[in-house]
Amino acid sequence: MKRRDIVVANWKMSPETLIEAKKVFNSVRGLAKGIRNTDIIICPPFPFLYPLLKLNHPKNVFFGVQNIASEIKGAFTGEVSADMAKGIGTKFSIIGHSERRAMGESNEIIRKKLQVAFDTDLIPILCVGEKERDKDGNHLAFIKNQIKECLTGLHKKYLVGIIVAYEPIWAIGKSYKEAMTPTDIHETTLFIKKVIGELFGGDIAVGSKILYGGSVEAENAGSIVEYGNIDGFLVGHASLSAEQFSAILKAADLKR
Ligand code: PEP
Repeated sequence: MKRRDIVVANWKMSPETLIEAKKVFNSVRGLAKGIRNTDIIICPPFPFLYPLLKLNHPKNVFFGVQNIASEIKGAFTGEVSADMAKGIGTKFSIIGHSERRAMGESNEIIRKKLQVAFDTDLIPILCVGEKERDKDGNHLAFIKNQIKECLTGLHKKYLVGIIVAYEPIWAIGKSYKEAMTPTDIHETTLFIKKVIGELFGGDIAVGSKILYGGSVEAENAGSIVEYGNIDGFLVGHASLSAEQFSAILKAADLKR
C-alpha cells in the first residue's frame, strides 16, 4: 500500500464558538477534496468534536483529540477518557504536546497515556521536542531521552507505524521566519529515526512516521516538504486559516 503523509490540525483552545468551528471545518472539507495522498486529522477542542464528527466529511479527513486521560476510567474530574473519544468516532490522539508537558505531564504519564491509547485502539501522535538548541548537541540527548522514556516498555507490536511529531518548543507559535530550517529538520528527523532504530529495531524505525511541527505556514511548508525528510506536519495556528492550511495541505500532497 502507498505510504500516506499526515497533516494534523491542532486547533488548541480555538476557535471561540461552535459556529466558527463549523466554518473552519467546512473550509477543510472543501480543501480535502483536492488532496489525494495525504490524510488530514482535525483535533478540535472537546466540545466541538462531536458536532463536527456528525457532519459529512471526505474519506481522507479524520478526527483526533488533543489529549486523553492517563487512566482508563474512574473518578478523575475534568478528564476525558480514550474510550469516550473512541466511542464517538475519534481515530487519533495527540499525546505529550509541549503545552501539556508544561502543565506537568511527565514522560512517565505520557507512556501511560500511550498504553491507554493502544489499549483503546486510538492512534497516538507522540510529541517530542527540545526547549532550546545548543551547539554542544545536548538537545539531541534530550529528545533521545523523551523517546526512550515515553516508548520503552510498550509492546513492540504497538510501535509498528508509530507517529512521532517533532516539535521544537522554541519554534512553536511564531511565524515561518522563526521556524526551524528544513536542513535542521532533516538532521533531526534522521536522528529520531536512528534513535527509534537503536531502541526498538530497524523495522520499527522504517515504519515510523515523523511529522514536523513549529510555525509551519504557507511560506515554509513547501521547502520543509522538499528538504526536511518528513512524513507530514503538525500544524497549530495556521490550521485555523483556510488560506494558510490550504497551502500547507497542497505542499504536503505534492510530495508523492
Ligand atoms: C503546535 O503547538 O503543535 C504547533 C505546531 O503550533 P504552531 O503551528 O502554532 O507553531
